[in-house]
Amino acid sequence: MHALKMTYHVQCFKCAACKTPIRNQAFYMEEGEPYCEKDYEKMFGTKCHGCDFKIDAGDRFLEALGYSWHDTCFVCALCQINLEGKTFYSKKDKPLCKGHAFAPV
Ligand SMILES: [Zn+2]
Ligand SMILES: [Zn+2]
Ligand SMILES: [Zn+2]
Repeated sequence: MHALKMTYHVQCFKCAACKTPIRNQAFYMEEGEPYCEKDYEKMFGTKCHGCDFKIDAGDRFLEALGYSWHDTCFVCALCQINLEGKTFYSKKDKPLCKGHAFAPV
């Protein structure tokens, strides 16, 4: 297998984090080291705190409560109303709308 203009034995071309041989799986390079998709996302990807999926380069997102969120995922934990650009409150890392801010969760 040829990668990075160097030749690796298939079993030597491993994810730098979990040491699993990458073989034919998708991988990403970071600082000259290959990472499997899972580890790359864990270490370098930005995950949405609302849905737990990766925020892709083209996705609209916002940062709040110390986390990143897809704009569509930043909703009240109780009524799911979108809180982007609105006044919101938070409880246990979850955004809440004004009406639910003081309701028991
Ligand atoms: Zn890995
Ligand atoms: Zn999301
Ligand atoms: Zn609400």
